[in-house]
Amino acid sequence: MVVTVVGAGIVGAACARALARAGCRVTVCEARFPGGGATAAGMGHVVVMDDSPDQLALTARGRDLWEELAPVLPAGAEYRRTGTLWVAADDDEMAEAGAKAQRLAAAGIACRLVDGAELSRREPALRAGLAGGLLVPGDAVVYPPPVAAWMMEEALAAGAECRRGQVAVAVDDDGQTRFGDGTRLGADVVVVATGAATAALVPGVPVRPRKGHLVITDRAPGFVTHQLVELGYVKRAHDVGTDSVAFNVQPRATGQLLVGSSRQIDVTSRDIDAAMLSRMLARCLDYLPGLARASIIRAWTGLRAATPDGLPLVGPWPGSPRTWLATGHEGLGITTAPATAEVLAAGLLGRQAPLPAAALLPARLQPAPLPGGVR
Ligand SMILES: Cc1cc2nc3c(=O)[nH]c(=O)nc-3n(C[C@H](O)[C@H](O)[C@H](O)COP(=O)(O)OP(=O)(O)OC[C@H]3O[C@@H](n4cnc5c(N)ncnc54)[C@H](O)[C@@H]3O)c2cc1C
Repeated sequence: MVVTVVGAGIVGAACARALARAGCRVTVCEARFPGGGATAAGMGHVVVMDDSPDQLALTARGRDLWEELAPVLPAGAEYRRTGTLWVAADDDEMAEAGAKAQRLAAAGIACRLVDGAELSRREPALRAGLAGGLLVPGDAVVYPPPVAAWMMEEALAAGAECRRGQVAVAVDDDGQTRFGDGTRLGADVVVVATGAATAALVPGVPVRPRKGHLVITDRAPGFVTHQLVELGYVKRAHDVGTDSVAFNVQPRATGQLLVGSSRQIDVTSRDIDAAMLSRMLARCLDYLPGLARASIIRAWTGLRAATPDGLPLVGPWPGSPRTWLATGHEGLGITTAPATAEVLAAGLLGRQAPLPAAALLPARLQPAPLPGGVR
């Protein structure tokens, strides 16, 4: 099968790797360079999330695949199983931790509730008086850009071709991709993995940009040892219409701290929003007062690709069966890229998918046809 993959973020690179290794003739077209989009801006928290059973299945499979990849990843990937400590500020959040523990345990995900005393023993830099939390020891952290580059190298080693600097301007129903320089490329199937830019390339795809800020500090080895996330994160991340911030801090292998996170829907400017950044940092300082002693080395933003139901779009785009989507991963595309590639390759090659793939099909969000049959 001849496949064009448009976009070499971690999702496109993972799809190209899986398809090339399965024997497809793959050409990857990337406007800039592999791993340079949201993949370069993301936090790299490999985390099991449970907003829905389908999200739980996808993230759990993604985390398992990261664990399998870990021994062969390049050193620059800095993959480490730090675990996640979901922090409960009060009794209500502790009740939510308990409910989350039950959902994860029912899916076979190891986790354990910790009380306030254990929380401060494990993470002494957290402010005193927190209620406790939920420890998920199998979660991990990774530095995504070198992984996307490595996945592309693996795809090339399996016979794929990569065309950099090729900006796709249209994907036609007959498998042709048209480029800004006037050239075209034909294929049996075009996999569109262009993240937050997808709606510009395939009109009608319900993906909206959701901007996020991150900050990296100078080195503070051992200041925190788990990925720390407030339990209120899930509620804030769900509330799509409102700008939100949440306490989310990651210890990097270098000893630096990666500090997040913020969410703003339909904001496409990549500029730092000083007010948003201040809100985000204030939230984190509230949980980790000692963070005030760290110096910020760099702050940046990235655009997540949000879908209406929080699940990615993986599979054929209705009305254009040769156009397949692998997009809409919002804040979980690093975690779920390997599983997305597995689901997409299984669908394209008629194999059994490793998890219920129907929930990811773009057809679930099929737009209503416009008069005259136009989508
Ligand atoms: C602040 C922030 C924090 C995050 N934290 C996490 C986290 O902790 N854990 C997690 O799992 N996920 C996280 N994410 C989400 C994750 O980064 C994304 O879901 C993931 O990187 C999406 O990968 P992608 O390949 O779909 O998109 P991208 O990485 O954006 O790649 C798309 C590629 O397509 C190319 N492209 C676009 N248009 C065209 C075109 N017309 N022609 C050719 N090429 C084109 C771009 O140049 C780009 O390289 C975070 C995201 C942000 C912004």
